[in-house]
Amino acid sequence: MNSIESELKKIIKGKVHSEKEFKKFYSVDASSYQIIPEIIVIPENEDDIIHTIKIANKFKTNVTVRGAGTGLVGSALNNGIILDMKNFDSIKVRKDYAVVQTGVVKGKLDSKLEINKKFFPPNPSVGSFCSIGGMIGNNSSGSRSLKYGSMIDNVLEITIIDGKGKKIILPKNEKTSRIIKNKIKIDQRKIPKVSKNSSGYRIDKIITTKDSHKIIVGSEGTLGIVISAKLKIKNIPKKRILFVVEYGLVKNAISDCISINNTNPSAIEFVDKKTLQQINQKFEKDTKCLLFVEYDEKISQNEKEFKARITGKIVKKLTKKQDIIKWWKYRDSSLFYSLKSIKSVNRMPHVIEDAAVPIERLSDFFKMQEKINKKFKTKSVIYGHIGNGNLHVRLIGSRKNLTLVKNIAKHYFEEIIKMNGTITAEHGDGLARSEFIKKQYGKTNYQTFVEIKKIFDPNNILNPGKIISKKSTVINNFEKLF
Ligand SMILES: Cc1cc2nc3c(=O)[nH]c(=O)nc-3n(C[C@H](O)[C@H](O)[C@H](O)COP(=O)(O)OP(=O)(O)OC[C@H]3O[C@@H](n4cnc5c(N)ncnc54)[C@H](O)[C@@H]3O)c2cc1C
Repeated sequence: MNSIESELKKIIKGKVHSEKEFKKFYSVDASSYQIIPEIIVIPENEDDIIHTIKIANKFKTNVTVRGAGTGLVGSALNNGIILDMKNFDSIKVRKDYAVVQTGVVKGKLDSKLEINKKFFPPNPSVGSFCSIGGMIGNNSSGSRSLKYGSMIDNVLEITIIDGKGKKIILPKNEKTSRIIKNKIKIDQRKIPKVSKNSSGYRIDKIITTKDSHKIIVGSEGTLGIVISAKLKIKNIPKKRILFVVEYGLVKNAISDCISINNTNPSAIEFVDKKTLQQINQKFEKDTKCLLFVEYDEKISQNEKEFKARITGKIVKKLTKKQDIIKWWKYRDSSLFYSLKSIKSVNRMPHVIEDAAVPIERLSDFFKMQEKINKKFKTKSVIYGHIGNGNLHVRLIGSRKNLTLVKNIAKHYFEEIIKMNGTITAEHGDGLARSEFIKKQYGKTNYQTFVEIKKIFDPNNILNPGKIISKKSTVINNFEKLF
């Protein structure tokens, strides 16, 4: 046992592990990366977290907080202490908000809210498995974020332990929020012009000191360990209607998406030909893609408006709860379907997988993807949250050719940035994208990010190498699968 471990074991009420099987388990998440940690701490209470951070400062090691480990870009992986938040699992439901500890998995929150006829809007397709802490860490969203926003729009208050082991409640903590307000200098020209963004620190969302907690959302555990959060909750809509529409041309789906975007749909989602072939339903032979369009209010009025605007063929009009759930499952299984349709040797690691562009640039996005496939001899599967201009791309090519992965990433992110898009709209920067943040935001904004990191974590103890990054990590640390 080394001295960090024995010091932790002396003071921590929860569990401390360094056994090989624990290290192996916590060395991976749902990304293609792998980093073996030194020690795993499963804190029992706030004091355990404070002690862990203080010991990490003393021994100059790092602390990376982990939720359910479903992240797709390696943001919860690091080589120091991993802090597993699973014991932080309390939920208090009030009239229009819930106070939730961050180890709570989304499915548990959903069930508790449903009893109260409420729901929490951000709904990543990974469904019930991810934790509230991870969703805050990545600024997660999902299909209904089109109407209700991402995590950043649905969190009212956040309690953290910072990099010095100090407890801070934002936005109540005036000192920190004042510092943030004064430090934030924004080069607006370099802020992505999109409705969803999980890249960098969201300085663009800090309008007054009342917004200071938003700096934590999307910060990937680099500014503080989030203990609990006050979340906005909504009444479950009395009715929903879901249309599935098929198209012979992708460009018609894009123009319909733009046209119906201002009719206040709760979701507009896209799946391409390769994905729809996995759905247990017969479509026309020449169908190239589907749109899933949902409304959750003024149903008959919206149906009329929708039908007047749409040019594709409606293949399903669903109003029964069970049918709607069944069809959303088809859409939510797109990642699984896409992986199923690609041989494992041809599954390129997830790197360029969740960019977003302004919706007026969607045609350019698809053209760019075609050019990439031609230039780099790849194929792609595309699906996702088209109403937000946010599309997931799974590349089909040689899994082993890592130089190719890096070249594609560089080219792709440059093109996305040129379109005023974001390199990541929901899964975060992690190991895959942190090195591209400077390019995304420019020097002034990046320097502001560095200053913000210093406010919360002056010794760079918390998840170092993510967001503020000096190293190239995009093709390092891939899982030893090959
Ligand atoms: C099949 C699949 C489908 C998905 N679909 C979507 C989708 O539709 N929309 C979408 O937005 N996302 C989607 N995701 C990604 C999803 O957002 C993340 O997987 C999820 O939010 C991560 O939660 P987690 O608990 O697993 O976090 P982890 O993977 O454990 O951690 C993620 C990040 O959050 C940080 N973190 C965790 N807990 C805390 C805490 N208490 N305090 C501070 N930071 C913390 C970690 O350090 C890390 O940086 C999908 C993922 C999968 C696997």
